[in-house]
Amino acid sequence: MRVAMIRVLLLMTAAAVAVVAVNVAAADEAIVIDGGTLIDVGRPELTGPATIIIEQGRIRAVGPAGELEWPAGARIIDARGSYVMPGIADMHNHLRDGLFRQGGDQAGVLRNLLSWGITTTFNPGVPVEEYAALRSAIAADPAAYPQTFLIRGVFTTKGGWGNGFTPETPAEARAIVLQLKAAGSDGVKLMYDDMRWATTRPFPVMDRAVAAAIIDEAHKQGMLAFAHAPIQELAKQVLEDGIDCLLHGIISEPIDAEFIELMKRNNACYISTLTMFQTNAGYAEWADRLKAFDFEKRLDSNALAIFHKAPNGTARLDNTDWTVERLPVLRLNLFTANSAGIPVVIGTDTGIPGVLPGIAAQLEMVMHVEAGLTPEDVLKAATSNPALMFGRAGQFGTLAPGAQADLLILNADPRRNIENIRRIRHVIRAGRVVR
Ligand SMILES: [Zn+2]
Repeated sequence: MRVAMIRVLLLMTAAAVAVVAVNVAAADEAIVIDGGTLIDVGRPELTGPATIIIEQGRIRAVGPAGELEWPAGARIIDARGSYVMPGIADMHNHLRDGLFRQGGDQAGVLRNLLSWGITTTFNPGVPVEEYAALRSAIAADPAAYPQTFLIRGVFTTKGGWGNGFTPETPAEARAIVLQLKAAGSDGVKLMYDDMRWATTRPFPVMDRAVAAAIIDEAHKQGMLAFAHAPIQELAKQVLEDGIDCLLHGIISEPIDAEFIELMKRNNACYISTLTMFQTNAGYAEWADRLKAFDFEKRLDSNALAIFHKAPNGTARLDNTDWTVERLPVLRLNLFTANSAGIPVVIGTDTGIPGVLPGIAAQLEMVMHVEAGLTPEDVLKAATSNPALMFGRAGQFGTLAPGAQADLLILNADPRRNIENIRRIRHVIRAGRVVR
């Protein structure tokens, strides 16, 4: 009896494996994208119509149209008249739905980002209780989601901004970093901000020795250290202590030579999150902007109506006037950082109210151009710089042979007008056509 049951279970397992195998085969079918114009900023480009051959989730070959041999049985996508570029990355995304109740199952939000052209994302601060489940959801079918980097929890201080770990000594801080390493966290994140840009009653900031210990231990463990530090003097402190990337732009005052020198010394990346600050500065104006940009009418009109009526700020974050006043400084700092050669990376802080998944990343790119960057600069910030940020140059964010086949086919050229980033015809993730 028992043996028979085991035999039945084995047969069922074999059947389940067979089903999975069929899916894998479908994902691994060869794809030929033929005749499109390639946009791969920073690489010597083929200017005429080109062919891209994708096999087993990777770009196998790229060449002038008509010169490559096509694999037998490949799916052919006629891309004549279209533009082909690497998928875009949103490297500050909390995987929430962006409504006031702060909901949304993270795996669901994540999967849906693909339809907006986002093939790589980074959640710097997954709540500890959700971290393991999110990791395993992605691991079960990675190509069904964008490539995703995750940090488990955040470091803050007692009474400080954000919920997270609150070590009181450097030794306690180092012990938590070791736990994060063991959990496979893609780095550590520090809240290092008194929030003066949004409140008249500033929050306490983490002890500097604790912050330095977190950064130092992360580096000893081979991990990157990220900071939420939009006030210049505080950002300089964590930069002096070795921080690798700023998750928000500097909004307090124009960045100075010392700041730029520290950023360059650390080879630190700069994520401006213009959308997050802009949202905080005024919901009604932001709701209008979202509505105007949403040419496919994908956004929920009830949600937009709620934002339209919402009062700005909260009881605790009561100083949105300060934010509004300094938005020009935030934009100027992005322009200055980019002009100084600091690697700028696209990130939105999606999930905070008003910063809606997917469309926020597209708008962030548009707002980078409004801040004075060229479309080419912005495309780099959305594709190759995110790979650089994680030490993975050439592995994604490019159309080079050998890279992950994460790419977009667009109906219009985003170099002519960055708003064309929303003119999506196809999205391909790890060699699978997902839109
Ligand atoms: Zn954030």
